[in-house]
Amino acid sequence: MSETNSPATAENRAEGSSAQWLEPHELLVCATCGGLRGPLTLWRDDPPHRYQVLQHCPCTQDSSHANETAWPRSFDFPEAACLCRACGRVLLRSGLRWCVWLCGPCKDLARALNNRYGRVLVPIGRHSLMHNLVLQSPAPSAVDTFHAALMRQVSATDRLRAWQSRVVRELLERNGWKGNMPLQQYLDAVPDEAPDYDALFSRMLATP
Ligand SMILES: [Zn+2]
Ligand SMILES: [Zn+2]
Repeated sequence: MSETNSPATAENRAEGSSAQWLEPHELLVCATCGGLRGPLTLWRDDPPHRYQVLQHCPCTQDSSHANETAWPRSFDFPEAACLCRACGRVLLRSGLRWCVWLCGPCKDLARALNNRYGRVLVPIGRHSLMHNLVLQSPAPSAVDTFHAALMRQVSATDRLRAWQSRVVRELLERNGWKGNMPLQQYLDAVPDEAPDYDALFSRMLATP
């Protein structure tokens, strides 16, 4: 899985998938949850087909979506793009269960941290195998250990989602933006210089 913060183009297609968003920058950055929502166009080559679909952010996921165009079956869930859940600055592809939630530097830091502590403090994606969480045997003690590790991953995922909302809202506020912001404008407004990732992660881990 690769990441991009440049405009999506025809070359910019999802690995292992015949469909890809064409223009994610039509999306809006939600000022409430930090998610991305709005219309976007997907296409596939064989046979050629374009899909006009609507991506929802967590705020709008529960409302009625009758009459909406179905997403291509190559997507595991209806999300084509998201922002890095740790720094909120980088646009990432989404929609497959193996998609990574973090940009390169954030993913490296998260992996190092998880390895150092031997548990999932900062999840890099939704799949337990991405964190080497595997049930070793059907013995009750192994099942208990596996279940406890899964539960920790779930609560770390909730914390990371809450952190993403916070960090995206901070970036919106820093740019004096009130309300939802067009994605392209948001990406243009993100400072070029890299953030202090260590400070960012320290703040994230200290946030309940
Ligand atoms: Zn939202
Ligand atoms: Zn990041």
